[in-house]
Amino acid sequence: MLVDTHGHINFAAFQNDAAKVLEQSLAQDIFVIMPGTKYETSRRAVELAATYERGVYAAVGLHPIHLSEKRRVDVLEVQSERVEEKSWMTFETKAEEFDYPVFKELAQNEKTVAIGEVGLDYYYRPKGKARLEAFKEKQKEVLRAQINLALEAHLPVIFHCRVAHDDLLDMLEQEYSDSMPRGVIHSYTGNLEQTKRFLELGFSFGFNGLIFKQVQGLNPQEVISFLPLERIVLETDSPYLKPPQAKGERNEPLNVRYVADEIARIKNISLKDIASATTKNAKTLFRLNQV
Ligand SMILES: [Zn+2]
Repeated sequence: MLVDTHGHINFAAFQNDAAKVLEQSLAQDIFVIMPGTKYETSRRAVELAATYERGVYAAVGLHPIHLSEKRRVDVLEVQSERVEEKSWMTFETKAEEFDYPVFKELAQNEKTVAIGEVGLDYYYRPKGKARLEAFKEKQKEVLRAQINLALEAHLPVIFHCRVAHDDLLDMLEQEYSDSMPRGVIHSYTGNLEQTKRFLELGFSFGFNGLIFKQVQGLNPQEVISFLPLERIVLETDSPYLKPPQAKGERNEPLNVRYVADEIARIKNISLKDIASATTKNAKTLFRLNQV
């Protein structure tokens, strides 16, 4: 079996066939964790997960790109990489404030296994020093609130971190040394130095279809070779980041096997061992056996 620790089946791209996609995944023994990115998608994740006895779980949180003013976001624009455009690949963000009590209620649902995805994203940054500083400070403030929620609810954190690894590391090291949250850095794109710091803090690392690409000069293969197997979890980030071998327009949890294959190749370990280790890692991190 495999665990897709990051698949947005709660997103509009799956509004017509979410149940079918999840049932196909479960039929192949693939569990799915669906992270929210704002209140609506977090609530949808909890509602969807509640319809399954086991194997489908929710994470709830406010993603940093939803803190800014309305703006068109191309979610597939990974650094300079652009893939063919579909309507669900772009959306308009609308600024949302983090409402602690509302998210706390979602976090207390029995199907919620993490706070996420939350974090820092400096990719679409405002111009001007003062505005940039305010933009970063706002993201950090909302992240602190959500880390506090994770600590209060005894849940791990699914971190989104884009072009902001050093700031995230500095914040965690300086402010949480006495109460470090547990968690995973999803869609990991840090360099080796940053990887060592995240490892030291106890975090896991999530990999998806991005590992088939060179991201901004960083080398996912180098990082995966370096990482201990106990700290790796698999994900798809469906509907985005489809591995090159996968068919169809959207990425789906079933494609997590291509990521498992590639990690097996890079680490020169059998697919069976990668599957069992990453499944164990995900079950331990998200306490899936208790849900
Ligand atoms: Zn995501």
